[in-house]
Amino acid sequence: VKHPFPLDPAPSDAALAAALDGEARSTLARLGDQPDRPAAMGAFDELLSGERRVREILASGRPVVGTLCNFAPDELVRAVGAIPVRLDAALAAAAEAGGRALARDLCPAVRSILGAHLGGLPLFRAASLLVVPAACDGKRALARALGGSREVFVLELPHRKEGARARARFLEEVRDLARALERLAGRSISRRGLRAQIELSNRRTAIAREIDGLRRASSRALISGRDALLVVHASFVADIEDWIARAGTLLEELRRRRDGAGAGASPPAAPRARLLLTGSPVYFPDYKLLEVIEERGGLVVADEMCSGSQRLRNPVVVDEATVGGMVRALAERALLPCTCPCFSEAEDRIERLLELAREGSVDGVVHQTLRLCQPYDAALPPVREALRREGIPLLDLRTEYGSEDRGLLANRVEAFLEMLSDAASEAAGPGEPVRFRAAGGASERIMDAKEGES
Ligand code: SF4
Ligand code: SF4
Repeated sequence: VKHPFPLDPAPSDAALAAALDGEARSTLARLGDQPDRPAAMGAFDELLSGERRVREILASGRPVVGTLCNFAPDELVRAVGAIPVRLDAALAAAAEAGGRALARDLCPAVRSILGAHLGGLPLFRAASLLVVPAACDGKRALARALGGSREVFVLELPHRKEGARARARFLEEVRDLARALERLAGRSISRRGLRAQIELSNRRTAIAREIDGLRRASSRALISGRDALLVVHASFVADIEDWIARAGTLLEELRRRRDGAGAGASPPAAPRARLLLTGSPVYFPDYKLLEVIEERGGLVVADEMCSGSQRLRNPVVVDEATVGGMVRALAERALLPCTCPCFSEAEDRIERLLELAREGSVDGVVHQTLRLCQPYDAALPPVREALRREGIPLLDLRTEYGSEDRGLLANRVEAFLEMLSDAASEAAGPGEPVRFRAAGGASERIMDAKEGES
């Protein structure tokens, strides 16, 4: 690059690694304080408490590929013997540093990534290649800024995902990425190696889907929304086989809890309200919004976020077991089921939200827009309208990283929960079971207000 973007760390940026570590520890400590927490969650705390997994990755001697978002298939990275790490993390101090270096008028997710680069966070330093999807203006600005000082692969995305031309263009991008990875690792992708990695991913997906299904179907809090998110966030850094083993143990425990043989002495309480969370991605360790909701008795039973359930939801469907056929299947899995509003179609996201609301028998939807996240902001009106038509209450929140607006969010969430309780009591009448209305009205369930059982 002839005119690189000036990215000079300030002396204070050296403290960012310790700040991230500190934030991670306090989030994990608060998660550990939840009553009736599944015992198997300790294994995920360990993965995200930093040191052990980071040391393991650094000591492996294998190339590390940092990804942002889910568009870069990690099966390709693993198939060349490299380690994929999704680097997205939410840290107010890093967003502050990134804003100083790039521009304040960018969302905190983008600024935080830049801050992590400036602060030389271990996994950022270790990554020999960063794959940045050009999904929104912020990510494009990030790719330009980082591209001057390190190896960046910009994954171009079509504006629409429907249509043969858009798909063909994205497939070409994924093929280019596969070639870049082969060059990086000095090794080609073999048919057998790629197939093994796809099989592993599909095993991971099957477990993640079952955990997610249990979470939505149960009338009690088998697992909190925060813990469900932590399980997904552990997959950002975990070795995939290790994650499968840990998540398999958790799944067993959740099945036992569902069947009434849980570890807790008393069954988990029925929540004050069942909620669906959507909007800009939430990243570890900033779980402020989920904490605010769940500390007040709400329960996030489902989410529609690329950093949450959507990440591990879709299997890779291979029609043709050649390397080319599998690369095509990976490109399709990354593109077609993605409901990110960086694509112009709103329909499938709305359909997905309504489906989740129905399956989770939710009482309301919480939509969070990170400050200056234009894609989610602009996509809200049709979502709002669809929910209104279905009679599903919506809480629309704007937020930033850090704890400054915690009190404000808490007031808004409390008022929403009260409104949902009032609506439920009015619908039920005194002494009557409270009706938890499933979206669409087709599959209403009656849940007893005292027992919380359907
Ligand atoms: S919101 Fe869209 S662009 Fe941003 S990380 Fe998620 S999928 Fe990627
Ligand atoms: S989609 Fe929103 S949150 Fe994600 S990088 Fe773009 S502006 Fe930021």
